Amino acid sequence: MMKTSDPRSALWSATTAPPPDTPPLTGDRRADVVVIGGGFTGLSAALHLAEAGLDTVLLEAEAPGFGASGRNNGQVVPGFSRHSPDEVVAKFGSERGEALNTWVQDAAALVFGLIERHGIDCDATQNGWLMPAHTESRLAVAQAKHDQWAARGASVALLDRSETQALTGSEFYMGAWLHRGGGNINPLAYTRGLARAALNAGAVIHAVSPATAIERAGSAWRVTTPNGSVEADSVILATNAYSGDLWPGLARSVVPMRLLQGATKPLSDNVARTILPERQGISDARRVLWAFRKDGQGRLVTGAAPLVPGFRGPLRDLCTAQVKAVFPQAGDMEFEYLWDGKVAVTLDRLPRFHELAEGVYAGLGYSGRGIAMATAMGKLLAERVQGTPASDLPVPVAPLKPVPMRSLLIPLARVRMNWWRFLDRLD
Ligand SMILES: Cc1cc2nc3c(=O)[nH]c(=O)nc-3n(C[C@H](O)[C@H](O)[C@H](O)COP(=O)(O)OP(=O)(O)OC[C@H]3O[C@@H](n4cnc5c(N)ncnc54)[C@H](O)[C@@H]3O)c2cc1C
Repeated sequence: MMKTSDPRSALWSATTAPPPDTPPLTGDRRADVVVIGGGFTGLSAALHLAEAGLDTVLLEAEAPGFGASGRNNGQVVPGFSRHSPDEVVAKFGSERGEALNTWVQDAAALVFGLIERHGIDCDATQNGWLMPAHTESRLAVAQAKHDQWAARGASVALLDRSETQALTGSEFYMGAWLHRGGGNINPLAYTRGLARAALNAGAVIHAVSPATAIERAGSAWRVTTPNGSVEADSVILATNAYSGDLWPGLARSVVPMRLLQGATKPLSDNVARTILPERQGISDARRVLWAFRKDGQGRLVTGAAPLVPGFRGPLRDLCTAQVKAVFPQAGDMEFEYLWDGKVAVTLDRLPRFHELAEGVYAGLGYSGRGIAMATAMGKLLAERVQGTPASDLPVPVAPLKPVPMRSLLIPLARVRMNWWRFLDRLD
């Protein structure tokens, strides 16, 4: 049986058209920019750089979409995972905070715009994203986010119990907020589509080409792989939770969290019609959120954070329990696909833009909300390489800092998550 960490165990691997040809790097070459990592961040950066006419080479250790980008739930969310827009302003001040709010707000439109402009066939539906709540106290959290985004002119709505039931097909929730700018995609198809668009724009992509060293080469940088090297003026690190020790301290600046996903067999038409009839995605308002969406073939795709380090049995049980609680009409559904992937979480759950050395940049730490944000981060990284002053970027340039007591944090996070889960259950 395939391990859940094997990307081939993901639903999207089975239902996505093959990737474009991206042969490994052999030999030494020169470019303007070398991008390391072939997820949304790296591919968006490569696409925007190539479109601007820069000679761009992307190196990916495995294949584009191998990391979180090819394994996620596919919900395109115009917002941060924890911070409300008022909290962002409280942290960064009015001008910088609102710039960051506008950036994350526009990020979903960037994704759907790229999909349209490049004709990416990824089952994209932009008909909104829902945060429903099952208790008064969690509804208050959802309502606060709604009110704050509404005050900033976002296209949002607060739904009462019956409107929420109509859109979700579930009696579990007592209300929700809807962000009309969000939606769903097949994330692996989007990743491969970005790769195709970047290639069409003139970028070069090498799969199975892990960067093993970055070193100075005169005024440029040399990035080495097992069978070649690229010399370039600028380097972008886009390795997120899959960062190794390529750049000292980068991996230690985030906490890698394993997230689990499960997809049912296609539901019968009768049942499928009653669940998420308009196919909005749900990330609910509980402390440890439950996520649900339907794919193009009527499978219900759900996700969870692990209770115990990764076995199929508990993962299947967790997904089954979630679906049964929210959509009892699904009956004894069978999970056809079970898989996992890693997200890079920062302590404040806000993304990071780093300038690691002159000409070396990194973007990471989307804390579970990376489809929109990583795509937008890739564009920002490309703009910075082209000379946009750091002070004009909506994401502040942050110093690289290790997460204190990181090795303890992972087991602690699991304990805290189980405590939150307990509180959610009490609710
Ligand atoms: C299970 C799961 C569900 C999620 N659900 C959602 C969701 O519904 N909505 C949402 O917005 N976000 C979601 N996310 C988060 C989102 O997927 C990520 O934030 C996003 O994909 C990060 O993109 P990235 O390009 O920065 O990193 P990744 O996609 O992880 O890409 C990093 C790449 O770097 C490569 N790499 C690493 N080291 C090297 C090296 N030395 N040389 C070359 N290449 C290297 C890796 O092979 C990998 O392909 C989810 C994540 C997971 C795991």
